[in-house]
Formats: sequence, C-alpha cells, structure tokens
Amino acid sequence: MKINISGLSEGSHQYVLTEPADGMGLESYFTGDVTATITLEKSIHQILASVNASVKGVFICDRCAEEFQETVDTRYTAVYSWERTEEREEDDDFYLLGKEDNIIDLTASVRDYLQLAVPVKLLCKRNCELPAHVRAAEPETDPRWEQLKLLKQTEKN
Ligand SMILES: [Zn+2]
Repeated sequence: MKINISGLSEGSHQYVLTEPADGMGLESYFTGDVTATITLEKSIHQILASVNASVKGVFICDRCAEEFQETVDTRYTAVYSWERTEEREEDDDFYLLGKEDNIIDLTASVRDYLQLAVPVKLLCKRNCELPAHVRAAEPETDPRWEQLKLLKQTEKN
C-alpha cells in the first residue's frame, strides 16, 4: 500500500489500492484482498490522507460457534507533513516526512485500523441464538424458581 508522492501537484488526488490480506501481516481470519480508497489533499507543507479500507474476514460466532463471513471496514485520516508545526486536527495521525521522502507507505496504518475495526463481540447475525442442543445441555436457572422452591419447602415444614 504505497503511493509515490514525488511530483504530486497541489490539490486532490484519488487512489484505489488492493493488496492481499496475508501479505499485509493481518490476522489469519482475514481473507482475500484489502481494498483501500485513498484521497490525498496536497498543500504546500503537508499531505492529508483520507483512507477508506475494507477486507473480508471469516470469523467464528461467539454464540453458536458457526463460521461466518463479514466485511470489516474502517476509515481514518492521517497527515504527512514536511514540517512539525503544521496545524492539524487533534485526532489525525501524524507522520513527519523527510525532505527526500517520496513514498507514503499506508500498509501499517491500514492494517492497524482494520484490526481495530473487528467487533469485540462476533455474532453471525444480530440476534443469533444458542443452538437448541446447547441450550438443552445448559438449562438456565431462573432465580425466581429457586425462591419458589424454598417457599414450598418452608410450607411443608
Ligand atoms: Zn451465531
């Protein structure tokens, strides 16, 4: 995920880059190609990069343990600057460029943002339920029934 910025004119430039997920050091549950749509806004002292990236992942559902496929996507902005002093938004990532740097390498940041975009709770569908045989094996005990049992016992005594 590299862009050659030598001779880049001021203004807006768009790129669509693809790279195999396993060539980017992503976790092995990601599969196929990572696609990144990148807009570079070049001004005198800096380049603002707006990145949209997506990749398919094969996950195991936390609830029913079935495999499912889902697209993970992320978007972020990063500032590449030849000067430390350039004003920027607080939450933009910042990279200092050397005078001779003519390549912007987005591989590490795209990888990190995609990795962060994986949901903490992985469900094959929003309202996935435990399969029937698992539910039967682990009956839920309702605390109210426990109370009732206790009441019945005290009545008998
Ligand atoms: Zn599920």
